[in-house]
Amino acid sequence: MSTALGNHILVEFMNCDPHIMNDVAAIERDMVGAAQKAGATVINSTFHHFSPYGVSGVVVIQESHLAIHTWPEYGYAAVDLFTCGEMDAWISFDFLKDCFGAKSYSALEMKRGSVNLLTRNNFDISTMRQKAAEWRNPEFYTRNVWFTDKDDDQALSLRFTGEVFYDVQSPFQRVRILESYKYGKMLALDDMVMTTEKDEFHYHEMISHPAMFTLENAKNILVIGGGDGGTVREILRHESVVKVTMVEIDGAVIDSCKEFLPTIAAAFDNPKLELIVDDGIAFLKNAKANSYDLIIVDGSDPVGPAEGLFSVEFYTNCYNALKEKGMLVAQGESPKFNEKAFTELNKTLQGIFGKDKALVSLFFVPTYPTGMWSFQYGIKGDLNPKKISNVEKIQEFVDANGLRYYNDEVHLGSFATPNFVKSLIK
Ligand code: SAM
Repeated sequence: MSTALGNHILVEFMNCDPHIMNDVAAIERDMVGAAQKAGATVINSTFHHFSPYGVSGVVVIQESHLAIHTWPEYGYAAVDLFTCGEMDAWISFDFLKDCFGAKSYSALEMKRGSVNLLTRNNFDISTMRQKAAEWRNPEFYTRNVWFTDKDDDQALSLRFTGEVFYDVQSPFQRVRILESYKYGKMLALDDMVMTTEKDEFHYHEMISHPAMFTLENAKNILVIGGGDGGTVREILRHESVVKVTMVEIDGAVIDSCKEFLPTIAAAFDNPKLELIVDDGIAFLKNAKANSYDLIIVDGSDPVGPAEGLFSVEFYTNCYNALKEKGMLVAQGESPKFNEKAFTELNKTLQGIFGKDKALVSLFFVPTYPTGMWSFQYGIKGDLNPKKISNVEKIQEFVDANGLRYYNDEVHLGSFATPNFVKSLIK
């Protein structure tokens, strides 16, 4: 008869593979596997991935719990194996040591709840046992694996199925296709949500159609980034288009979206599209002046390969590559999430295109932190996206293409900037 209610092994796994330490799906899978390997009955698992890195999670088992907190930057994991009954948690320990590739470790085992120190209360156990038996289905356990995109003070978390369809560390970034319960499959770059099946149209319709209906007859369009393919899909809906040149730095993004997000990556075989896998910054440096009616910068956040997509030099090259009457539309960050990048980009565009020629269009994307996002415009020549002259044509286009976000009212409404945004870009 055991003299303690529980057995607790406190484990320090060290010199582990930092990538594994930052992989919430792999860690959830291995922690559940460690419990099952030791014959435990899993009740549920809840795991959180924190950006920029680190994972915390717990697997609740009939025999108590297994918990973990990781510091990928140290290749370190603190693991708790708390069990009761006959379960041998050292089996879980050995399993995890191999899964995490721990080159060194320490473990401290202690008995918890020494019965000699406890007084048993007399309460009716039968009713409790009955309810537990009815409730638990060992075949099925709820998985709560959360993907969290956050800055220091705010976060957006999406519960995902734990399934990882694509996971490649490319020369530029980590490219993953995951599946979330609410928004379907999603593309994550370096742990930031880029696009999801269920809300991508918010972004892709608003990055393309306001500009196309302002220009009315755009023929030659340049897209920088946009590796998921959603932006070129929308642009190529317009009959006026003669050629779209898309310059995406990372072939892994294109491949992953072609395979796992085909509804977004739907236009890559269009004959009007020239797809170039290259650095957009270098491409603009060598671009011929006066070439494009529209330049769209569908880039990721100002880190890694996309940092240069927020520079004065890059936007000066964009200005020169535009025709006398042309427009630039850039992924503009959020006035409520990395405000600094948002404000500085507008200042840069004001400096290059002119104070009244750097406009902000606001729209909503539920899977971006705060949900409030922007496109920033640079206008060359007398074009004004705040005025619409062809409402009927827009409505026909919206109906014909079954658009779900963009219409003439949303077009105009997106340029109505709240006072706090006006003061941010004043
Ligand atoms: N909607 C997303 C957002 O708001 O963050 C952007 C989506 S799109 C996938 C961003 C693309 O820009 C990525 O595929 C990334 O590889 C690409 N990119 C980043 N830096 C680049 C560069 N210097 N030249 C070309 N493409 C770049």
